[in-house]
Amino acid sequence: MAASAYDCIVIGSGPGGYVAAIRSAQLGMTTAVVEKADIGGRCLNVACIPAKAVLRVADILTEVQEAADFGIHVAAPTVDFGEVTERRRKVVSTLTGGVAGLMKKSAIDVIEGRGSITATVSVRVGADEIEARKGIILATGSVARPIPGTQFGGRVIGTEQAWALTELPASLAVVGAGASGAEIASAYARLGVRVQLFEGLDRVLPSEDADISKVAERGFQRQGIEVRTKTFVEHVQSDEDGVSFTYGGTRGAADYLVIAAGRAPDVEGLGLEAAGVRLTDAGLVEVDSTQRTSADRVYAIGDLVLGPALAHKASDEGVIAAEAISGAQTHPLSYPDIPRATFCKPNVASFGLTEAQARAQGYDVVVGKVSYGAVGAGTVYGDRTGVVKIVGERAYGELLGGHIVGAKSTEMIQELVNVRAMEGGYAEVARMVHGHPTLSEAVMEAARAADGWLIHG
Ligand SMILES: Cc1cc2nc3c(=O)[nH]c(=O)nc-3n(C[C@H](O)[C@H](O)[C@H](O)COP(=O)(O)OP(=O)(O)OC[C@H]3O[C@@H](n4cnc5c(N)ncnc54)[C@H](O)[C@@H]3O)c2cc1C
Repeated sequence: MAASAYDCIVIGSGPGGYVAAIRSAQLGMTTAVVEKADIGGRCLNVACIPAKAVLRVADILTEVQEAADFGIHVAAPTVDFGEVTERRRKVVSTLTGGVAGLMKKSAIDVIEGRGSITATVSVRVGADEIEARKGIILATGSVARPIPGTQFGGRVIGTEQAWALTELPASLAVVGAGASGAEIASAYARLGVRVQLFEGLDRVLPSEDADISKVAERGFQRQGIEVRTKTFVEHVQSDEDGVSFTYGGTRGAADYLVIAAGRAPDVEGLGLEAAGVRLTDAGLVEVDSTQRTSADRVYAIGDLVLGPALAHKASDEGVIAAEAISGAQTHPLSYPDIPRATFCKPNVASFGLTEAQARAQGYDVVVGKVSYGAVGAGTVYGDRTGVVKIVGERAYGELLGGHIVGAKSTEMIQELVNVRAMEGGYAEVARMVHGHPTLSEAVMEAARAADGWLIHG
């Protein structure tokens, strides 16, 4: 049963909210989390984790299909999507069970229900009003947004429904080739679904460096994805069997249309206006560098606030908010240095500025770029097409950005993020000894290229 007051109340139990709650409890505050759906938030239940569980299946299938390149011959593999679904659910329940366990271990009360805030720094859940003595952390995440002229329903689905499919459709049309759309396209195409991928801008993964998008698009085409950039989907009509639409004057059809073209903060019914919480012009909750909103003792984190909509960003903001509420010293986030990872094939990972952004900001830019084929591991492990690109600044050797496309890039990007966090530059990466044969040697070689002395080019 909920108490009538806590030091800190968190609304939402996603990667922002549950981490904030644990940090709050660690700092000695009595803490409660209010959750209207499932513990673990959207990330664990319907987004990051189920997505990666299905992508992992597609990765294994690809490896089996490519095994002949390594001298292993297997009969044509088949996918039992019922078992895939079962495993996906098990992965999710294992991880959400883990979060529930962490709440218990940290003596955090989990209150089921929809929370809203009042002008007196309390949280209302149903008929109960619970006082937050030191602060409230809003961590309610974001919801999918349809494209203009469409609405979700029937065969028009969002990314969360796309990852929750329990049968493999024959065809999917995916709108939006950002991280989420690219992951859906790359997973389902490799599982045997006909996938059309539409992007209004001129390339896939449009927020990545242009060189990286090129390599990714080639990879998508090899998987049979029908990529259409600079193309808008319109006149969407859904019926029982499928969905029809137009793109560039042509009629298209698919079993489902997946809209992966943006999300909006989930602020409905939160009581923000009455409590004096200001929103930005974009509808996000306005916060300072300690996540404090315009309302006294009310903080906001994660997808509700500015910055990349990523789970690890939400978690770190949760730590900052809890520390700020408790009065402990805290460290504001450096948003450009947050790693971004997309788990399509090929994997894409980056941080900081793209080459175009660095040039637009007036830096004297230096670029170091090598393919995985430049180092032994690329050939040994069977990925010579991956690319590491380092964007640096000439005078001081600063690492402005890192961009990797290819196997394991989502793991490898962390090296560059860490070096930058410790105020190292590309010259330092170039001189660090890297194990052999590893793909991380390609990171070292890209740094050497930026520093002007590429060895394996
Ligand atoms: C398909 C997909 C895949 C993704 N993959 C990745 C990935 O691989 N890596 C990554 O870093 N990011 C990924 N993201 C982004 C990531 O999911 C979000 O950035 C992250 O979930 C944000 O965390 P959060 O804590 O702000 O909110 P959420 O995870 O959205 O959790 C918010 C919680 O608040 C609850 N809530 C909302 N309103 C109320 C209320 N009034 N009262 C009580 N509870 C409420 C919701 O039910 C929900 O459980 C993905 C997103 C999508 C859609």
